[in-house]
Amino acid sequence: MRMRSIRIGRLAGIPIGFQPLWLAIVVLIAWSLGAAYYPDEAPGIAPLAAYGLGLLSALLLFASILLHELGHSLVARRHGVEIEEIDLWLLGGVARMKGYPRAAGDELRFAIAGPAVTLAIVAVFGAIALALPASTPDAIEAVVAYQLFVNAAILVFNLLPAFPLDGGRVARAAIWMRTGDMQRSTALAARVGRGFGYLMIGLGVFGAAAGAFGGLWLAVVGVFVIVAAKAEEGGLRVRTAFAGREAGRFVSFPAVTAPAGISVAEAVERLFVPYRYTAYPVIDGGRPVGLIDTSHVERVPPPRRAATTVREAAILDPELLIGEHQDVAELLERPAFQRVGRAVVRGDGGEVGVISITDVNRALRAIELSRPADRE
Ligand SMILES: [Zn+2]
Repeated sequence: MRMRSIRIGRLAGIPIGFQPLWLAIVVLIAWSLGAAYYPDEAPGIAPLAAYGLGLLSALLLFASILLHELGHSLVARRHGVEIEEIDLWLLGGVARMKGYPRAAGDELRFAIAGPAVTLAIVAVFGAIALALPASTPDAIEAVVAYQLFVNAAILVFNLLPAFPLDGGRVARAAIWMRTGDMQRSTALAARVGRGFGYLMIGLGVFGAAAGAFGGLWLAVVGVFVIVAAKAEEGGLRVRTAFAGREAGRFVSFPAVTAPAGISVAEAVERLFVPYRYTAYPVIDGGRPVGLIDTSHVERVPPPRRAATTVREAAILDPELLIGEHQDVAELLERPAFQRVGRAVVRGDGGEVGVISITDVNRALRAIELSRPADRE
């Protein structure tokens, strides 16, 4: 489960957010540029101006990464894959898709769109650098040179054939096109990605030991590539196992439900204590409207539990209300489900139940036990 991202708005209808740690990265970049890069490139620059340009550079970098992700997103959307959100985090951005490219050609176009945008940004800053007159102040030249450098680095890095980086996605699409087998091409691309990850860690640690401190950064990226490749492979395993399976099969009906209008204190006394379940569907006017679990109760300070209704304490995200025929593979992709770990299932006859990630994982292990030949 990942950290909740902070929403900053929408671009072309796609929600944009960032992980809280991204703020720390922006500050770190602004600070290191202001403390070392700008004073070196523009001797005599005032400290305030140096840090100001550092912040400007970090924000321009932020915008460049956003445009790269927007490139992926718009192409994906044109090919019928909905984009849940663009999330900026530690080492760049992620355009989170609802669902997956169905054909190798779509995957190829999707993967190339981001680097194509970054290539255009490199070209623009390259043209600006060439067009600057000789009389341009050193500090301005340094701003352009920095963007040219970081965007070129983003381009090269993303094109490494280390799945799930863009280059690895291109490689997977190419293998997928030739073999027609998505699962096998993903496994192969993920294996190559892992190899690159270990190579990066090795080079990074070796570099750091030899005095190149930047090597540690490479090692961190290597760890990220290994973890992400594993997650991608695991995700595909789950999708393959659950494709076409309905949520109703993994739920027990009927669950004990919590009326929206009762107080949290009453819910504790009437439900949480006697039944000892950790989560209850919240019902209003005979229909499920949300979910309340122990963590929601804990968030209400004890003196306020008598005056707070279940509706106020519960999570009312419509993404967590599903029908019994809901495809489980699709449910597992929903960020809300990944974050909360549970969803409310409504049966055709009006009965209500809860499906949890734990139930699904248990089922996954059973499914895989019954099909040992499918595993690598
Ligand atoms: Zn990309």
